[in-house]
Amino acid sequence: MSAGELVIEGLRAGIPGREILRGVDLVVRTGEVHAVMGPNGSGKSTLAHVLMGRPGYDVTAGTVTLDGVDLLSLPTWQRARVGLFLTLQHPTEVPGISTLDALLAGSAPLAGSVEAGDETAEAARVAGVTARLSAEASRIGLDPALLQRTLNVDLSGGERKRNETVQLGTVRPRFAVLDEIDSGLDVDALGAVARRVREAVGEWELGVLAITHFRRLLDVLVPDVVHVFTDGRVVATGGPELANSVDRAGYQAFV
Ligand code: ADP
Ligand code: MG
Repeated sequence: MSAGELVIEGLRAGIPGREILRGVDLVVRTGEVHAVMGPNGSGKSTLAHVLMGRPGYDVTAGTVTLDGVDLLSLPTWQRARVGLFLTLQHPTEVPGISTLDALLAGSAPLAGSVEAGDETAEAARVAGVTARLSAEASRIGLDPALLQRTLNVDLSGGERKRNETVQLGTVRPRFAVLDEIDSGLDVDALGAVARRVREAVGEWELGVLAITHFRRLLDVLVPDVVHVFTDGRVVATGGPELANSVDRAGYQAFV
């Protein structure tokens, strides 16, 4: 797969009457892991939501491109098609839709077999997505039976985060924004999720923007670049050692 980049330039955004992102600049290339570390309320989830196009936020300045494509002008589903994927800090419950249903629906437009009325191709597609999904589940220790249950309903916090990771592995996007994939995970689950993401970087050159406020995740995920994010902007950028400084000195030291 060709190298690509996710470029965020001068991004300002917020909700009516309040600016939350105050000029964000970040460049993530495929095959790179960038960590964004910041305290509660600094705007990390807002950044994730604005990148993916969640309604309710106004972008007032700046640009976001993926391989040169202007993401901000696209609806969420087209951003996904271009190659952006988001794992949610608080995965949404979708009663009546299983994880498998959701991924089959999400990948149908790319396959085109439904529109073409090609039943053989469609059966192969369903079998392919199903196989990939259960392979991903067993890889990180999520009971494959949960994939048939309704999306995130009645799943524990840890199961939801594993489920997000399973979807990431099945969809194989070019870039993934992980919004606190570590929150709610016990130490074993954290290791499994972080290892899976790291392996994805090697397998298909996934580019990662990993949002977190703890260093633990980064011990296994091992970022190439660490950004400290406070009050809606990047205030420091460095190597993995920057995560140790945050751990020692807290975020206050960067303000
Ligand atoms: P973080 O993920 O870093 O903890 P958030 O991006 O969730 O921070 O939130 C940053 C600030 O913006 C918080 O004060 C939060 O309450 C506010 N905020 C974010 N999204 C909304 C929204 N849709 N409506 C109202 N306030 C919001
Ligand atoms: Mg958040």
